[in-house]
Amino acid sequence: MKTIVIVGGGTAGLQLAARLGKQLGQRGLANVVLVDRYRTHLWKPLLHEVATGKLEPYIHHTSFALQARRYGFRFVQGEFTSLDRDNRTLEITTSGSDGDMQATTLAYDTLVLAIGGTTQYFGVPGASEHALALDSVAGAEHARTRIVDALRRVSSRATAADRPARASVAIVGAGATGVQLAAQVRQMSRVLSQYGIHSLDPDHGTDVRLVEASGNILPGMDRRLADRTTAELRAQGIEIMLNTRVTEVRPDCLHVAGAAPIAADVTVWTAGVTVAPVLSSIGLQVTRNGRVRVGDTLQSLEDEHIYALGDCASFRPAGEQAELPTRAQVAHQQAIYLARALPRVLAGKSVAGFTFRDRGSVISLADDMALCHLLAPGAGDGWQVQGVLATLVHRVIYRRHVLSVQGFARTAAMALSQRLERLLGAGYRLD
Ligand SMILES: Cc1cc2nc3c(=O)[nH]c(=O)nc-3n(C[C@H](O)[C@H](O)[C@H](O)COP(=O)(O)OP(=O)(O)OC[C@H]3O[C@@H](n4cnc5c(N)ncnc54)[C@H](O)[C@@H]3O)c2cc1C
Repeated sequence: MKTIVIVGGGTAGLQLAARLGKQLGQRGLANVVLVDRYRTHLWKPLLHEVATGKLEPYIHHTSFALQARRYGFRFVQGEFTSLDRDNRTLEITTSGSDGDMQATTLAYDTLVLAIGGTTQYFGVPGASEHALALDSVAGAEHARTRIVDALRRVSSRATAADRPARASVAIVGAGATGVQLAAQVRQMSRVLSQYGIHSLDPDHGTDVRLVEASGNILPGMDRRLADRTTAELRAQGIEIMLNTRVTEVRPDCLHVAGAAPIAADVTVWTAGVTVAPVLSSIGLQVTRNGRVRVGDTLQSLEDEHIYALGDCASFRPAGEQAELPTRAQVAHQQAIYLARALPRVLAGKSVAGFTFRDRGSVISLADDMALCHLLAPGAGDGWQVQGVLATLVHRVIYRRHVLSVQGFARTAAMALSQRLERLLGAGYRLD
């Protein structure tokens, strides 16, 4: 029986494993194996909500072991560290609680790379040391602790000196992550002040600054959506600094090209995505950011047994100048495509190439405030939607992801427990 190994259980990989497990694993048509460095999955577009305490990760996470049992695939926890293409094996490393490293070798007939991306610091001095990144649940939780600590620290300094003070949070990069995080930090600071977690002024006690090197926020997205988001962020008191290139990150400030340093009690870096170096060392063509170049069947250009999708893959549709962006929508559609294509390939049938259908973008700024640009065939430039309807669209997108990996009953149960948690709590974690 053939073995399909999927490395990475994120937006793309977990969905693919569940679908292939159901179609092939449960029917004894192929062994489906999922590898991830963690034991649980949390949908990455929620990480900025973990970073502000808007969301309790333990309610939203999905256990890989549970999914494996339900859908007929095998789960192996460990870090993908190397590949032997000649013998079609890969090495997975795990570290025990005593720090001991153990290596496991897995054989594959088909390998699917879905390891996603990681923060790109562009070599800016001090960025990887002093700025926080939202690559993982642990990283996002660390960011939350640091932001809350900074608010408390500035607040107690102000109380001791008996004069008002302002904390400052700088967010580098005004893409979807940075923009949504900025709005959440503003709201979080207000709520924590109302509950006495710090004593800074709820409306003016925290300066939130979005620092962006280009001339626009939300680069690559619809301009009308970006303009409306800009207006909304400004209305919330967030400062947007465009054409501002960070040259160094220090523990308490950012140095920028051609202007005075920007004060920052905390800096969060959301400015770019790169791929872990492991993919640059396996003899496949990669882009400058380390993304594996794939053709329209999502196979690597050199090795027909290796596929890549999501953030770690670079696919440029025919006739387009640019590769597809690193977005959940792309990862989701590619997972659905491969879940249909791989069983056909295994059965020796031909497959059509992948086509991306852009459905638009959603930006969720804070409680019940979202903005959407929706696209549909025949709808021209699409529709701009705001407010309750846009918030609903944002929730539906997340629920659809949960539904695709958890099934109806669990999705409903999770939605209910999340609703209860919201009703009983303050809207933000207070610990
Ligand atoms: C804070 C934040 C907010 C975002 N908001 C949005 C948004 O609003 N809209 C949008 O479209 N996109 C958004 N994105 C981007 C979106 O999350 C990604 O495009 C999408 O998750 C990519 O899916 P993926 O499956 O390729 O990778 P991921 O979802 O990143 O999954 C990769 C998986 O691989 C595992 N892994 C990594 N390396 C290894 C290794 N060496 N060995 C074993 N396992 C490994 C990881 O643990 C992870 O489970 C956001 C991203 C972040 C960080």
